[in-house]
Amino acid sequence: MDFLSHILWANLLFRKKQWRWQGVAFAILPDFPIALVMPLYILGYNVDAMRQLWSIDFATHSLLVIGILFVLASLYLKRYYYPLIFGSTLHVFTDLVTHKGSHAGYPPGTALFYPLTEFRIDGIINYEKDLWFLVLNFGALILIYSYIYLKGKKQNEGV
Ligand SMILES: [Zn+2]
Repeated sequence: MDFLSHILWANLLFRKKQWRWQGVAFAILPDFPIALVMPLYILGYNVDAMRQLWSIDFATHSLLVIGILFVLASLYLKRYYYPLIFGSTLHVFTDLVTHKGSHAGYPPGTALFYPLTEFRIDGIINYEKDLWFLVLNFGALILIYSYIYLKGKKQNEGV
Protein backbone atom coordinates (compact mmCIF):
# COMPACT_ATOMS: atom_id res chain seq x y z
CA MET A 1 0.00 0.00 0.00
CA ASP A 2 1.17 3.55 -0.55
CA PHE A 3 2.86 5.60 2.15
CA LEU A 4 -0.01 8.09 2.60
CA SER A 5 -2.64 5.35 3.02
CA HIS A 6 -0.50 3.62 5.64
CA ILE A 7 -0.39 6.88 7.62
CA LEU A 8 -4.07 7.71 7.21
CA TRP A 9 -5.44 4.25 8.11
CA ALA A 10 -3.13 3.91 11.12
CA ASN A 11 -4.06 7.39 12.34
CA LEU A 12 -7.73 6.48 11.97
CA LEU A 13 -7.51 3.13 13.75
CA PHE A 14 -5.26 4.35 16.56
CA ARG A 15 -6.83 7.80 17.04
CA LYS A 16 -8.23 6.97 20.48
CA LYS A 17 -5.08 5.27 21.75
CA GLN A 18 -2.62 7.01 24.02
CA TRP A 19 0.17 5.70 21.76
CA ARG A 20 -1.48 7.02 18.56
CA TRP A 21 1.57 8.73 17.02
CA GLN A 22 3.95 5.92 17.91
CA GLY A 23 1.50 3.51 16.25
CA VAL A 24 1.46 5.67 13.12
CA ALA A 25 5.28 5.74 13.14
CA PHE A 26 5.45 1.94 13.33
CA ALA A 27 2.84 1.70 10.57
CA ILE A 28 5.20 3.48 8.15
CA LEU A 29 8.59 2.29 9.43
CA PRO A 30 8.55 -1.01 7.46
CA ASP A 31 8.76 0.98 4.19
CA PHE A 32 11.72 3.16 5.15
CA PRO A 33 14.42 0.92 3.61
CA ILE A 34 12.66 0.83 0.25
CA ALA A 35 11.67 4.52 0.49
CA LEU A 36 15.37 5.37 0.71
CA VAL A 37 16.26 3.20 -2.27
CA MET A 38 13.34 3.94 -4.60
CA PRO A 39 14.49 7.39 -5.78
CA LEU A 40 17.83 5.86 -6.80
CA TYR A 41 16.06 3.08 -8.67
CA ILE A 42 13.89 5.62 -10.49
CA LEU A 43 17.02 7.60 -11.43
CA GLY A 44 18.46 4.41 -12.96
CA TYR A 45 21.19 3.50 -10.49
CA ASN A 46 22.54 -0.05 -10.16
CA VAL A 47 19.52 -2.15 -9.23
CA ASP A 48 21.58 -5.26 -8.42
CA ALA A 49 23.42 -3.43 -5.66
CA MET A 50 20.09 -2.24 -4.31
CA ARG A 51 18.75 -5.77 -4.14
CA GLN A 52 20.97 -6.27 -1.10
CA LEU A 53 18.89 -3.63 0.61
CA TRP A 54 15.78 -5.65 -0.09
CA SER A 55 16.75 -8.10 2.65
CA ILE A 56 16.29 -5.23 5.10
CA ASP A 57 12.90 -4.55 3.55
CA PHE A 58 12.03 -8.27 3.75
CA ALA A 59 12.93 -8.16 7.47
CA THR A 60 10.82 -5.09 8.22
CA HIS A 61 7.84 -6.84 6.56
CA SER A 62 8.34 -10.16 8.42
CA LEU A 63 5.87 -11.08 11.16
CA LEU A 64 8.63 -13.18 12.67
CA VAL A 65 11.02 -10.19 12.96
CA ILE A 66 8.21 -7.92 14.19
CA GLY A 67 7.21 -10.52 16.81
CA ILE A 68 10.78 -10.82 18.08
CA LEU A 69 11.19 -7.03 18.22
CA PHE A 70 7.87 -6.77 20.09
CA VAL A 71 9.00 -9.30 22.70
CA LEU A 72 12.40 -7.60 23.12
CA ALA A 73 10.89 -4.10 23.35
CA SER A 74 8.25 -5.31 25.83
CA LEU A 75 10.85 -7.04 27.99
CA TYR A 76 13.04 -3.93 27.95
CA LEU A 77 10.15 -1.58 28.78
CA LYS A 78 8.56 -4.09 31.22
CA ARG A 79 5.15 -3.57 29.56
CA TYR A 80 3.55 -4.65 26.28
CA TYR A 81 4.74 -2.25 23.60
CA TYR A 82 1.49 -2.10 21.59
CA PRO A 83 2.42 0.60 19.03
CA LEU A 84 5.14 -1.65 17.59
CA ILE A 85 3.01 -4.79 17.21
CA PHE A 86 -0.22 -3.08 16.09
CA GLY A 87 1.42 -0.48 13.82
CA SER A 88 3.78 -2.87 12.08
CA THR A 89 1.32 -5.75 11.67
CA LEU A 90 -1.29 -3.34 10.28
CA HIS A 91 1.31 -2.33 7.69
CA VAL A 92 2.25 -5.92 6.84
CA PHE A 93 -1.36 -7.13 6.48
CA THR A 94 -2.39 -4.22 4.24
CA ASP A 95 0.70 -4.88 2.10
CA LEU A 96 -0.10 -8.59 2.07
CA VAL A 97 -3.44 -7.88 0.40
CA THR A 98 -2.40 -4.96 -1.84
CA HIS A 99 1.03 -6.07 -3.16
CA LYS A 100 0.11 -8.16 -6.16
CA GLY A 101 2.85 -8.73 -8.72
CA SER A 102 6.23 -7.04 -8.79
CA HIS A 103 6.57 -3.29 -8.90
CA ALA A 104 9.61 -1.13 -9.62
CA GLY A 105 11.85 -4.21 -9.75
CA TYR A 106 10.73 -5.39 -6.32
CA PRO A 107 9.75 -9.07 -6.09
CA PRO A 108 6.01 -9.82 -5.80
CA GLY A 109 4.26 -10.53 -2.52
CA THR A 110 5.30 -10.44 1.13
CA ALA A 111 7.70 -12.82 2.93
CA LEU A 112 5.90 -13.20 6.27
CA PHE A 113 8.47 -15.47 7.89
CA TYR A 114 11.74 -14.02 6.60
CA PRO A 115 14.59 -14.89 7.35
CA LEU A 116 13.40 -18.46 8.04
CA THR A 117 12.04 -18.60 4.52
CA GLU A 118 11.84 -16.17 1.60
CA PHE A 119 8.55 -17.77 0.50
CA ARG A 120 6.39 -14.88 -0.58
CA ILE A 121 2.61 -14.65 -0.59
CA ASP A 122 1.37 -12.65 -3.55
CA GLY A 123 -1.38 -10.10 -2.92
CA ILE A 124 -4.85 -10.04 -4.45
CA ILE A 125 -4.88 -6.32 -5.33
CA ASN A 126 -2.25 -4.22 -7.07
CA TYR A 127 -2.56 -0.91 -5.25
CA GLU A 128 -0.67 0.92 -8.01
CA LYS A 129 -2.53 -0.45 -11.02
CA ASP A 130 -6.06 -1.34 -9.86
CA LEU A 131 -7.86 1.95 -10.34
CA TRP A 132 -11.04 0.71 -8.61
CA PHE A 133 -9.01 0.06 -5.47
CA LEU A 134 -7.44 3.52 -5.59
CA VAL A 135 -10.89 5.10 -5.82
CA LEU A 136 -12.33 2.82 -3.11
CA ASN A 137 -9.38 3.30 -0.75
CA PHE A 138 -9.16 7.08 -0.94
CA GLY A 139 -12.95 7.42 -1.24
CA ALA A 140 -13.35 5.50 2.04
CA LEU A 141 -10.63 7.56 3.72
CA ILE A 142 -12.22 10.85 2.62
CA LEU A 143 -15.69 9.72 3.78
CA ILE A 144 -14.50 8.47 7.18
CA TYR A 145 -12.30 11.50 7.89
CA SER A 146 -15.12 13.84 6.82
CA TYR A 147 -17.58 12.02 9.09
CA ILE A 148 -15.23 12.25 12.08
CA TYR A 149 -14.51 15.92 11.38
CA LEU A 150 -18.21 16.82 11.03
CA LYS A 151 -19.14 14.78 14.11
CA GLY A 152 -16.48 16.58 16.14
CA LYS A 153 -17.62 19.96 14.84
CA LYS A 154 -21.26 19.20 15.71
CA GLN A 155 -20.30 18.11 19.24
CA ASN A 156 -18.26 21.29 19.75
CA GLU A 157 -21.16 23.46 18.58
CA GLY A 158 -23.56 21.60 20.89
CA VAL A 159 -21.52 22.39 24.02
ZN1 LIG B 1 5.38 -2.01 2.97
